[in-house]
Amino acid sequence: MTVEAAAAGTADTAPGTPVLEVDGLSAFYGHVRALFDVSFTVAPGASVALVGANGAGKSTVARVVTGLVPAGGGTVRIDGADVTGHPPWDIARRGVTHVTEGRSVFSSLTVEENLVLTFRAELGAAAVPAALERVFGTFPRLGERRGQSAGTLSGGEQRMLALARALGAPQRLLVVDELSFGLAPVIVEQVYAALDDVRADGCALLLIEQHVDRALRAADHVVVLRKGAVVAAGTPAELSASLDELVLGPGPAEAG
Ligand code: ATP
Repeated sequence: MTVEAAAAGTADTAPGTPVLEVDGLSAFYGHVRALFDVSFTVAPGASVALVGANGAGKSTVARVVTGLVPAGGGTVRIDGADVTGHPPWDIARRGVTHVTEGRSVFSSLTVEENLVLTFRAELGAAAVPAALERVFGTFPRLGERRGQSAGTLSGGEQRMLALARALGAPQRLLVVDELSFGLAPVIVEQVYAALDDVRADGCALLLIEQHVDRALRAADHVVVLRKGAVVAAGTPAELSASLDELVLGPGPAEAG
């Protein structure tokens, strides 16, 4: 699907409907409140970077959107449908894939077995060869290591494999948490190049990144979270000059 086709909406979605709409979201871990009235949208085919300091609530937004953590209030809509409180499998069924922090691969299986297992479950056996070809085209390094146990891959290669498992089929929205964490710069560029391919297929991106500069280069919209609340949103051009202060908060003089 092209970006333009995606922007026109799915067959049963009105044109202009965001692929993701988060409205007044709150979330709690026990008695600790992690999110306060968080609202933003991701347009079809868009790339939105969610940035913020450690503990700002970025991963929590991703977990609530994908059904891993319940919303304490507010709504999550996917392609206009209210999915608040729906289980992760239902959100995945709607074309939302979450590449979580960490490596999330089956260590004792080979690279190819990891991919086949995922693609067979999600796409059916007939679609597996084409999905493998697509992924090995995007990540030639994984193709070279297709017979190697995933647990013996380098950290960067395991991150690639985790991403590759999400890329077998075109999606509506890919939520990627700390993609570049612990990766060498050259590998970071490879995984971001893979995300360009995903976008070219019309998939929207919600990027959670601590490397703010890198995320901004890949995003057309930025949402800044501080202490669980949205403190700014706009284009990278609009926000880049003031981003450090937005992320970290005002300096001591201004804070009074
Ligand atoms: P980082 O960049 O460090 O990963 P983040 O912006 O993704 O941070 P979250 O992981 O969403 O932030 O955490 C938001 C707040 O919720 C933090 O104060 C954190 O300590 C708390 N928190 C996160 N997960 C849990 C949990 N499982 N149990 C209790 N508190 C949690």
